[in-house]
This record gives sequence, structure tokens and C-alpha cells, in this order.
Amino acid sequence: MRTSIATVSLSGSLTEKLTAAARAGFDGVEIFENDLLTSPLTPEEIRARCADLGLGIELYQPMRDIEAVPAEVFARNLRRARHKFALMERLGADTVLVCSSVSPLATDDDGLAAGQLSELADLARDFGIRVAYEALAWGRHVSTWDHAWRIVEAAGHPALGTCLDSFHILSRSSGPKGLEGIEDIPGEKIFFLQLADAPLLGMDVLQWSRHHRCFPGQGGFDIAGLVKHVLRTGYDGPLSLEVFNDVFRQAEAGPTAVDARRSLLILQEEAGIRALPAPASPTGVAFAELVTHDAEPVAALLTGLGFVRTARHRGKPVELWEQGEARVLVNTGPAARRDGTTLTAIGLESPDPAAAARRAEALLAPVLPRRRAAEDAPLDAVAAPDGTELFLCATNRPGLPDWRADFVDVPHTPAAPAAPHAPVGVRIDHVALTQPWHQFDEAVLFHRGVLGLDAQESVDVADPYGLLRSRAVTNADGSVRFPLTVGAAPGDDTAQARHIALATADVVAAARRFTEAGGRLLPVPANYYDDLEARFEFAEGELETYRELGILYDRDAHGVFRHCYTHTVGRVFFELVQRDGGYRGYGAVNAPVRLAAQHTAR
Ligand code: MG
Ligand code: MG
Repeated sequence: MRTSIATVSLSGSLTEKLTAAARAGFDGVEIFENDLLTSPLTPEEIRARCADLGLGIELYQPMRDIEAVPAEVFARNLRRARHKFALMERLGADTVLVCSSVSPLATDDDGLAAGQLSELADLARDFGIRVAYEALAWGRHVSTWDHAWRIVEAAGHPALGTCLDSFHILSRSSGPKGLEGIEDIPGEKIFFLQLADAPLLGMDVLQWSRHHRCFPGQGGFDIAGLVKHVLRTGYDGPLSLEVFNDVFRQAEAGPTAVDARRSLLILQEEAGIRALPAPASPTGVAFAELVTHDAEPVAALLTGLGFVRTARHRGKPVELWEQGEARVLVNTGPAARRDGTTLTAIGLESPDPAAAARRAEALLAPVLPRRRAAEDAPLDAVAAPDGTELFLCATNRPGLPDWRADFVDVPHTPAAPAAPHAPVGVRIDHVALTQPWHQFDEAVLFHRGVLGLDAQESVDVADPYGLLRSRAVTNADGSVRFPLTVGAAPGDDTAQARHIALATADVVAAARRFTEAGGRLLPVPANYYDDLEARFEFAEGELETYRELGILYDRDAHGVFRHCYTHTVGRVFFELVQRDGGYRGYGAVNAPVRLAAQHTAR
């Protein structure tokens, strides 16, 4: 099916929007009237630009407050329409969107609405134009898809059809009929299908629509279910994204268009109309990679945590540190930034790295150049929206090349002794990936759609200097967990620091060992422990131990979570966590305490 995007969904000038849509692979666009009015290009030039870019102009929109009005008002509306139809002729657009009236002059008279829309369609037909009538969720008298369709059906005009818009339909529990009623509309009478998702918010529907629409798969609506109903009618027009969103209006058009097209590809797969390479969901975290220009503080921190430097890369300044199943790479190569240590890459254990890379590529994820020597083991890698490198790899699995083949063992020296107390079974519990402010929803959809992870509920976390949104993506058995967080002001290094959480069977012992090795745990205010004492009952001495070490505590319906944090190096810190009884979260309730303590420490 053809794919399209409304120019209002992207930022920039009309030219920038068209270029971004074409580069992302869309087949067409809806030209939003304001984008045309503010463009220095003539309609003929816009038409030529679209043709050069291989874009069809699928829709011109919107035409407002047309129908069910007194005769003299309607006469003026027809005059306005004649001007717009002449413009569309120059533009080469053959479908116009008419949305249901919000005018106080409109009357609640379906017969009048049908008659006037029919007259409008007569005029449109003279220009070779079709009229697609859409129910706005806040229309004065017509606010549901089935009401708009009844009027179109009553008019019975060949140049008049309906436009279905997923936001308007799903933002209200629809009309008297369920959505399966859509299947009763003849497909050739559905002139257009606009798609937008939205988070489920309890707010005024007009404001909700104007500010919070998002791309399919990024909100709470069942867009694929709606698309299936529409396709069963025989509809064969484009799938077109119409998203009004405060973030997209500011973010760069190019990446937004890619995010948009990826969402449509995933939607088409969910609706059963496009086959993509199947996901090969990761089965674990092979490693996390830190890039730094100063390895010494990182090495000290890792040593204190019980890691041992076991190997170095054959051809690059990269060292492998290991402890149990947890592996950290420390890269001091040219990518190191002067502004400190950052977490830049993650190795994902993949059951089929090549297949995972094929899916990522099909979903427009940049496949990274290998930057590798000829003798290195092949390693597939793709870039997440924020630029984090995701290596699709295998550790110790028969039949698959092992990424560690590129590393040579380093002998243990007195300076790097094997940690005698290293707890058994340490592994990476989660990697918290802070995201740029404008890429949160995209990041969630990327990890879900491209990697096959599940997205959990979004939670808000109060930082002393902002409100952060956090949403975890995980695999089925919890061996891959990435809390994605956004909301910090750009430049707020504390809220933007990423962390690696190490799972341990005994966080108290691990915390003691770390401090005895000279490590510094994040101090936690006494008030926090007074509050804990009020909320939970503890065994004799338990709370005092937590208070002494700075261990935070949480419980959910499944179990108990105890965790503490190291000091921050550059923009990275570590967390030690003990999950008992199947606790599912990440201690979000404690995150404000942690963030405040980190701001204080800084
Ligand atoms: Mg619409
Ligand atoms: Mg954490």
C-alpha cells in the first residue's frame, strides 16, 4: 500500500518537509494548507518539487466549516471552495479534506449537510476533485465516523466520500456501533485514511489532538485493529500519517520522517499486510561498552566492584573487564570525548545476529560500518535512534562466531589481581539508557519493533530540576532490561548520566566489599530511612544496615528490591541490585532520592 505523511507532522519549511518525507521513503504527502500559504514556492513549483522527489500529493487539507449552514453562508463557502479547487488544480491534488463543522452557524440537520456537501461535490467534480468528509471528534453536530458516513451515504454523490481518522475515531468510544461497523462502508467510498496514535490521557479532546498525537505504536490506541477493519472494506488508498505533536514541530524533520516511516512499517506488519524479517529477540546482554579518554577512574571503579581486566582487543584500544556473566568494555580509542566517560554501545546476545540485522535494516536502522580488521570475527551492529551502537553478537554459543575471538587474554598481574571475593553469578541486570528529549517515543518503538522487546508502562520520576519520563523495554525472561528515560534539560549531566546495574544475590555484602575496596557509594539522606521505617517493617538491624551503606529499598506485589549506587564517573555510574521474589521494577519510587543525592554529590 502507498504510504503518506501530512506535512504538518514534520518541522521546517515545506521544502524541508518534502525532502525529509521523500528521503524516508514515503510515496506521498498530504499538503497542509498553512505549509503552502507560508511557502515562497508557487503551487506549480510545489507540484514539480514533489514530482522530482517521487512524491504524490495525496490530499490537500483542511477545508473547514462548510456544511449545514444558512444559504447565504453556504454561497460564500462555495466561493471559497472554488478558489481552493482552482489552487488544487495547479497543485495537481485531486482529493480535498473537509472536516465536520465547528461553526456556531451550523445546524443539526443531516439532510441540509448532505445536500450542501453534494453541491460542494458537484463543484469539485468540475475540477476533477473528490471531497473526503471527516468527522472531527469535537465537531459541532457531527463528531463520529458513523455519523459522517451516514451523511455521505445520504448524499449519494460519486465525488463525495468519507475520510477516516484514527485519532478522531479512537479518542472517543465511537458512535452507536462498534468499529466492526466500519466494514459495512463500501471501500470505494472511503476516500482517505489518516493514522495517528496518542497516549491515553484524560483531557480535552481538541487539546489532546493538537499536542499529543504520535506515530502508530507510540501511544495507547489499537491502530492495527482499526486498519484491519478499514482494509476489509477493500480500501486501497494510502496509509497516511497525520500527527500534530509539539515535539515533532521542533525536532529535525529528517529523523522524524524516518521514525514515522518505521512506525508505518511496523503497523503494516501488525495489520498483516507486510512481511518483514522476523525479530530475533536478544536473549541477554553480552557487554556494555564505555568510552573514555581517561581509563584510570573507570578501572578503579570496576576493580572496586569486583571486575577483573581479562583481555584486550587485538587491534583497538579496548579492554574487556569481566565478573561472573557481567562484561564491560573500556574503549580509550578516538571516539573518546573530552567531556568524560560515556556509555556508547551494548552487545546484545542474539540467537541469530544476521537475521536481527536484516530486520533492523528493513526497519530503517542504520547498519554500522564494521570499522574492523580483516581477521576480526564478523559482527553485526546497528545504531539506535540516539546513536547508541547495538552489537548483535554471541558469547559461547556453538555454531556462532564469538565476539571475544577478537580479544587476547591478559595475564593477571599483581596490579590487577583476581578478586577473591567476587560473588558468584553477577550479571548485568539492566542498563539505563537516558534519551535525548525529542526521541523518547521513537526509542521505545525502536526497541520494541526492531529488537522485539516488550515496552512496559511509562512512569514519571521527579528530578530536583525536572520531571523525567521512564519506560522500560525488556525481553520475555527479563534477561534484557533497558529503562529508557527522558526529560532532563539538555546539559543536565546528572539526569542524563547512564548506568549499568549489576545483579547480585547479596547487595549488602556487595556494597560492603565495594566500600572496603575504597569505593564510594552514593550517600542517601537520613530522611529517606525515616520514611522507609514508616512504610515497611524491618527485621532487627536491617534498616540500620541500609542506612549505613546507602541501600535503597522497594517492594511490589511480587517481591523485594534492594539497590545502591556508586559515585559517577563522567556520565556513567553503576548500581548494585538484589531482586528477590520476582520484583519486576527498577526502584522508580526511589529515583527522586537518587537523583537529588547525585545533584548534591556533584
Ligand atoms: Mg484528520
Ligand atoms: Mg537502575
